[in-house]
Amino acid sequence: MDLTRSSIVQIRDAVRAKKVSAAEVARHFLERVDKLDKKLNSFITINPQVIDDARALDGRIAKGDDIGPMAGVPIAVKDLLCTEGLRTTAGSKILENFIPPYTATVVNKLKEAGAVVLGKTSLDEFAMGSSNETSAYGAVKNPWNLDYVPGGSSGGSAVAIAARLAPGAIGTDTGGSIRQPAGLCGVYGIKPTYGRVSRYGIIAYASSLDQAGPMANTAADCAVMLEAISGKCRFDSTTANIGVPKWSQEIRQDLKGCRIGLPKEYFTEKLDADVTRVTQAAIEAVKTRGAEIVEVSIPLVKYAVPVYYLIATSEASSNLARYDGVRFGHRADFSKTPAKDLEEFYSLNRGQGFGVEVKRRIMLGTYALSSGYYDAYYQKACQVRRLLRDEFLRAFESCDVLLSPVTASPAFKIGERISDPLEMYLNDIFTTSTNLAGLPGMAVPAGFSIGGLPIGVQLTAKHFDEQRIFDVASALENTLVKEERVPNVI
Ligand code: GLN
Repeated sequence: MDLTRSSIVQIRDAVRAKKVSAAEVARHFLERVDKLDKKLNSFITINPQVIDDARALDGRIAKGDDIGPMAGVPIAVKDLLCTEGLRTTAGSKILENFIPPYTATVVNKLKEAGAVVLGKTSLDEFAMGSSNETSAYGAVKNPWNLDYVPGGSSGGSAVAIAARLAPGAIGTDTGGSIRQPAGLCGVYGIKPTYGRVSRYGIIAYASSLDQAGPMANTAADCAVMLEAISGKCRFDSTTANIGVPKWSQEIRQDLKGCRIGLPKEYFTEKLDADVTRVTQAAIEAVKTRGAEIVEVSIPLVKYAVPVYYLIATSEASSNLARYDGVRFGHRADFSKTPAKDLEEFYSLNRGQGFGVEVKRRIMLGTYALSSGYYDAYYQKACQVRRLLRDEFLRAFESCDVLLSPVTASPAFKIGERISDPLEMYLNDIFTTSTNLAGLPGMAVPAGFSIGGLPIGVQLTAKHFDEQRIFDVASALENTLVKEERVPNVI
């Protein structure tokens, strides 16, 4: 079987039927990483145990054990999720030598379902960024054109999927970090409803927005992975006590009776011509499947970027306080000159360990939370966030799923936006509102620019209605994808 082009479902079925061993699958993808990742730089650390883990699984299969729905599937895990005994850096120098003493629930659940961890993928430092250029471990390249960014912050995970270095990956999404790189690399990626997936063991960026989710090469693969990682977790009190449907078995590509809303604020004249063309084609595609198109309005999305950057940086400034060189993180060399006082001790440790973007955000967030400014910034942002959520819920009275672009343009060149933070933040214009409202959202590959770069569309549904997203994603997949295109590098 052609493992490179196989889906998660195909690999899992073949492993369970003993047509291929889990060890052969793991070896195949390890060899691909070895051959291709020097160019792409998508992995920070490879799991040295992966072949042994796969062999152990083969031993259980030989004994007749019933292995779960991810049987023998190698997974690339964003290096923001703690893995016991396996270095976890968050893309930062400050955690260069951090070996977690425990494993994130998401990773444990994947393993319980039969998956093996192939390695840890690159990301913007502490998941702050939209291009993967802020990683302390070097920029990650878009496999469709190596001069271009893959998006971020889960850029390494998106690249691993697009270049077929792994059949499935885990990303995290605080303001678009699964959907934006998925869109720019031409893969599927879903941010679940807030509370669907445990955040335990995921290095926190902005706790009220962070969610982990799957990235893969088919909509059904994302559904299978999401089934494996969802559910109430006793270590994360924000997980919802709600059943986990079998989305992958319920997918209905017939969209008769499904109302698809086009939020008019997302269709501005600032959209790139290729993005407009591809999005229009996606709208036509859902119509051919029987969906009804309605126009909706969510006026407050115009404030999503400023509201997001106030809330996310405020929460980050608090979450990142623990990296002080005492409890966690890099410690400066004090062997020759000891620190004058505690303040100098902290500031040297943190000053050397954090990169510029992380420092910028800690300062912004600390300012927004400081007394005298709290009411004007952080609290005001929280109020607007609530109103934005209400507007979404109102829009969902007249539709079931929202369809929009993921980003206003396809991938940009490495170096093109990194020196202009405002321009970089504006990348998140279509994705941040989903997190602020706690809704599920997915990026679905929908076409290509004239220059050959992938373009995705974004689907957003009501809280806990991931099923509708998978239905529409799958309908789009079957209508739009005429022939499978893969990047030349592979
Ligand atoms: N690009 C956004 C940011 O920089 C989103 C990041 C994310 O979702 N982790 O904050």
